[in-house]
Amino acid sequence: MSTEQGRETPAAPTGRAEVDVAIVGAGLAGTVLALSLAKAGRKVALVDPHRIHHDEFRAEKTRAEQMGLFEKLGLGPVFRSLATPMTDLHVFRFGQLFERKQTWEYAFSYTPLVNGLRAALPPHVPLTVGKVAEVSTGPDRQRLVLTDGSAIDARLLVVATGYSEAVRRAIGVERIEESKAHSLSMGFDLAITSQDFGLQSLTFYGRRIADRIAFLTLFRIGERLRANMFVYRTVADPWVRTFRENPQKMLLELMPEIAERCGGFAVASEVEVRQVSLTTTRGHRRDGVVFIGDAFATTCPAQGDGIHRVLTDVDCLSSTHIPAWLETPGMAAEKICAFYDDPIKIAADERAMRASIYARRITTETGLEWRLRRLRNNTARHLMIFARRFRDAGKPVTSRLAQEELLSSEPAERPAGNIIASELTNP
Ligand SMILES: Cc1cc2nc3c(=O)[nH]c(=O)nc-3n(C[C@H](O)[C@H](O)[C@H](O)COP(=O)(O)OP(=O)(O)OC[C@H]3O[C@@H](n4cnc5c(N)ncnc54)[C@H](O)[C@@H]3O)c2cc1C
Repeated sequence: MSTEQGRETPAAPTGRAEVDVAIVGAGLAGTVLALSLAKAGRKVALVDPHRIHHDEFRAEKTRAEQMGLFEKLGLGPVFRSLATPMTDLHVFRFGQLFERKQTWEYAFSYTPLVNGLRAALPPHVPLTVGKVAEVSTGPDRQRLVLTDGSAIDARLLVVATGYSEAVRRAIGVERIEESKAHSLSMGFDLAITSQDFGLQSLTFYGRRIADRIAFLTLFRIGERLRANMFVYRTVADPWVRTFRENPQKMLLELMPEIAERCGGFAVASEVEVRQVSLTTTRGHRRDGVVFIGDAFATTCPAQGDGIHRVLTDVDCLSSTHIPAWLETPGMAAEKICAFYDDPIKIAADERAMRASIYARRITTETGLEWRLRRLRNNTARHLMIFARRFRDAGKPVTSRLAQEELLSSEPAERPAGNIIASELTNP
């Protein structure tokens, strides 16, 4: 692949398309942006090497906040048709039920989600299946030449190629590793009878520092019962191999409370494993091209902010910047920088990065500062449990489920001050 900045490339021998915006990469970011721009009547080209998004372990759960962004982008009904909603979330700490949250979350398989969104593309924005052979960017026009010789001319180029480096590298943009091999995401199916798993979502936090576990969460995707576990280890760690060889045995040793909640569960699939580094981008402030989603930055999946970053990028671009950029001639770097300097985008990126770094440190660091922070958080959590028990002691509670109702009923009872309240409900 070659790239040119601000120079004309020779005319392509075969097809040529002229659009407002060319998007390279039809994952979540590229497809949602194409849908959003198509709704606004823009001429868009969307290019990806695969007609059907390939099967891979990626995001499987998101929160009400992200649902709000799908709604804002006009994609609420499509997203809802591809997701399993849940409202009753049980959180376990120290081996016991700590909190019951009544809040909306949505589970999905990433590949059907992306394919379902692609299927919603209107006929005037088809997916172009092809590989980019050449990219040229400049202050006025951008050009993509595909390996079949066809060319796409655009006023703006959007790179949404996720972890893939080819197009980013061709344009001359560098990925900076802020935290290499930061965490490992593990995904697998569970076999549990409906009687044993009546609950919609369970989250178990790790008990010991040495285990390096952020948390395990169990939830339904349609009829499937899915587990996502996030650990602060590298893929080469022998612990990972041992876990993959006998996940059931390891789970029972690490979190025996699972058996208490889920009875005779079995791990019913291979354990999929993905290593993730925290990365940012250097050299992206340039004429004619903008980087979004994982093509711009990657954060830790355990914090569930990846989709939030993707949707924030798309929302900022489609509702504010692209309409303004297309109104006046040219697409120089000064215009493009308005997106990277948008306080809403900056806040979403910073929140994701900060939470990723904090969660790993509070879970794994053994220095005095972090031991004291953990002591503070855990003492407050134990006090919360104790206060509830004390309050409920005189009440005629007939079943454990009734007790759990009480746990969920009064979130205002949290004794923690503002400073640590969010740290208590998160790692
Ligand atoms: C294991 C795991 C679990 C996760 N869990 C969560 C979670 O629970 N919650 C959450 O919010 N986030 C989670 N994330 C993060 C989230 O999945 C990502 O932030 C999000 O999917 C990024 O979407 P994207 O469109 O930027 O990239 P992608 O979905 O990777 O899309 C990139 C697209 O570009 C295409 N492409 C690649 N190279 C080229 C090329 N040369 N030319 C044209 N097209 C190209 C690819 O085919 C693909 O379609 C998780 C990530 C991982 C790895």
